Amino acid sequence: MYDVSGKVALVTGGASGIGAETARLLAAKGAAVAIADINAEAGAANAKDINAAGGEAVYLPLDVSSESAWEATMAAVLEKFGGLHILVNGAGIELVRKIADTSLADFQKVMAVNLDGVFLGIKYAMTAMRDTKQGPGGGSIINISSVAGIQGHMRQIAYAGSKGGVRLMTKAAAAEAAQYGYDVRVNSVHPGTIETPMVQGMIAHRDEAGQKAAIEKIRQMHPIGRLGQPIDIANAILFLASDASGFMTGSEVVVDGGMTATG
Ligand code: NAP
Repeated sequence: MYDVSGKVALVTGGASGIGAETARLLAAKGAAVAIADINAEAGAANAKDINAAGGEAVYLPLDVSSESAWEATMAAVLEKFGGLHILVNGAGIELVRKIADTSLADFQKVMAVNLDGVFLGIKYAMTAMRDTKQGPGGGSIINISSVAGIQGHMRQIAYAGSKGGVRLMTKAAAAEAAQYGYDVRVNSVHPGTIETPMVQGMIAHRDEAGQKAAIEKIRQMHPIGRLGQPIDIANAILFLASDASGFMTGSEVVVDGGMTATG
């Protein structure tokens, strides 16, 4: 559908779920892809599969919450590919816990990955993109927020707080980049429930019948009648990464099967 040939993309969280599918799709549509993740085994395996399928990908180790790790990863991307056009801030962690049971350490861990990680990604990518010759659509930073960044979700004080922060950091970064003429667009994507290891992990403590019941309950929250698949989100990210979305910045793209449409 959309073309990203000749572009260089960095995908955090590219070892699993939405990030892994996004790395595969961007590579299939012509981008050279750096997969950055703490999961070395799965990240390297995804890069290997992409290369075997005729694409171009490399795995780079990255803990998104570490500034020194970001410096090293960005330097490696620039050395290997000579520039950066697309950043997908996909790495994230979930925490489902009542407020009274959430320790400050729990809260800060979620913030470190979901909020610090996205801030550092924006910071380092924006500079790299300004130094890279961009196409007509400009550089593109895509931050994966959530429906939990738009509406309240029970037992998710840290996760929802972090994802709401991602939503507004996106708009602040988009406005600043445009104001200073950086030729970089910044948008957020807000998935509903997507069938990935993250969601599987949230229900893994239940027995088989309990897991089935939980999935059915989640399904009913999506008016379109199914949970999302990683490709549903990757397709939206591909559009935002491509020059076809060149007039979009500061936007929030909701991909949730109608979940937020019904309140
Ligand atoms: P996932 O399958 O768990 O993949 C997330 C990846 O990020 C994993 O490879 C994980 O490694 C990695 N990661 C975790 N902490 C990291 C860190 N500090 N530095 C670098 N990488 C790290 O999750 P997903 O469902 O695809 O979610 C991707 C994004 O979409 C997240 O930001 C999530 O919040 C968001 N989202 C997901 C859903 C959903 O329903 N799935 C809905 C809305 C939003 P490990 O596996 O080793 O932890």
